[in-house]
Amino acid sequence: MRFTLDDSQTALVAELDHLIDTFDDGLGPLDQLARLGDHRLLAVHYPAGLGGRDRTLADHAAICERMGERGLPDVAHLITVQAVGCTILHHGTEHQRATLLPRIAGGRLLASLLLSEKDAGSDLTGIATTAEPDGDGWRLTGVKSWSLFTEWSSIALCSARTRPREHRYDGISLFLVDLAAPGVTISPEFRASGTPYRTVTFDAVPVRGDALVGPPHRGFPLLPAAIGFERMGFDYLTRAVRWLATVEREVRRLPADPRSAFASQVARLRFQVANARATAYHAVGTADGLDMDEIAVAYAKLTCGLAAQAVARWAGTELLPVLRDEDGTAVPALRAAVAEAPEFTVSGGAQDLQLDLIANEFPIGGTFR
Ligand SMILES: Cc1cc2nc3c(=O)[nH]c(=O)nc-3n(C[C@H](O)[C@H](O)[C@H](O)COP(=O)(O)OP(=O)(O)OC[C@H]3O[C@@H](n4cnc5c(N)ncnc54)[C@H](O)[C@@H]3O)c2cc1C
Repeated sequence: MRFTLDDSQTALVAELDHLIDTFDDGLGPLDQLARLGDHRLLAVHYPAGLGGRDRTLADHAAICERMGERGLPDVAHLITVQAVGCTILHHGTEHQRATLLPRIAGGRLLASLLLSEKDAGSDLTGIATTAEPDGDGWRLTGVKSWSLFTEWSSIALCSARTRPREHRYDGISLFLVDLAAPGVTISPEFRASGTPYRTVTFDAVPVRGDALVGPPHRGFPLLPAAIGFERMGFDYLTRAVRWLATVEREVRRLPADPRSAFASQVARLRFQVANARATAYHAVGTADGLDMDEIAVAYAKLTCGLAAQAVARWAGTELLPVLRDEDGTAVPALRAAVAEAPEFTVSGGAQDLQLDLIANEFPIGGTFR
C-alpha cells in the first residue's frame, strides 16, 4: 500500500501545478486541456512518439488526481485518454494509433464512451445496438444512454452487436464512430447534478471498415480493460478530496460548539479518504498495460466511491444545517456533492458487482446474495 508519491511523481505534479497557476480565470475547460496537452501532461504514460512521455500508469494517476483536485475536467480527460485512448493504444491499428493518439494526448481531440443502453448497463452484453455489414464498412443503428461529455467529443468508442450471440460474450464489436456523421443525434438526458448525460441515437450511420477496434465480433473481452482505470476510482477519489477540503475549511470556521463535537467525525472521513487513496494507488500498481488485478480494482472502486459518498452524506446531514458559508461557495459545492454522490453506486461498474468480485476471494460456500 502506498500513501505518498515518489520524488519524480512529486516533480511531475509540481510541474502541473505550476502550469495551472498560470491559467487565467476565464480559460475554458477545453482550452485548459489543450494547454496541458501542449506540455505533454495529459497522457504521460503514452509512448513519447505518440504525445506521451514514456512514464508509468501510476505517474498518469498522480496527474489525474491533481487535475480533479484543481477542478480541471478530469472525467472528460479520464474517458478520453484512458478508456478510449488506451484501448486504441493497445488494440487499435497502426493507422488509428498514429492519427488519433497524438491529438488525444495533445488535448485536441476528445472521445466519449458509448457502451450503456437503457436495458444494458451492468450487463453490457445485453445491448440492442447493431452494426450491419455495408460494403467495406458497417451501418450502425441503436440508442446509447448516460454518456458524459459527448457534446465535447468528436469521436466515440461504441459497442454494437455484429452477429447474433452464440454465447454471452460473442458477437459484439467496438467501433470508433465519428459523432458528426449523418444519422447521429445527440440529445440531453436528465441528471440530478453536473453536466447532463447524453443520449446518442444512431440511425443507420455509415461507419468505415477501418473504424473497427480489435477483432470483429470479439470486442467484448476488451471492455473491462477499457473501463479499468475508471474503476480504480480516481474520479471518486478527487471528489472525496475536494469535498473533504471544503468540509474541513468550513468546520474550522464554526463556533467552538459544534466544531469540537465534529472533530472525531471529520477525522473518520479523513481516514476513509486516505485509505481510499492508498487502495487506488495499490490497484494502479497492479496494472501492466491493460492487464490489472480485477480484485484490487474492485477494492479501489468501492473504497473510493464509498469514501466520497461518506463525505457527501456527512456534509448533507451534519454540516449543511449549521454552515456559515462566509464566502458563499461552500453551500452550492456541498449541495452539488450531495446530489452527485448517489450516482457512484452504479457509475463505472455498480458497487454490487465489485462486491461480487470480492466475494470470490473467500469461497465459503453458498451464494453471495
Ligand atoms: C455518472 C455516470 C456516468 C456514466 N457515464 C457513462 C458513459 O460515459 N458511457 C456509458 O456507456 N455509460 C455511462 N454510464 C452508465 C453506467 O455504466 C451504468 O449506469 C452502470 O453500468 C449501471 O447500469 P444501470 O444504470 O443500467 O443499472 P443496472 O445494471 O440496472 O443496475 C441497477 C442495480 O442492480 C444491481 N445489479 C445489476 N446487475 C447485478 C448483478 N448481476 N448482481 C448484483 N447486483 C446487480 C446494480 O448493482 C444496481 O444497484 C454512466 C453512469 C453514471 C451514473
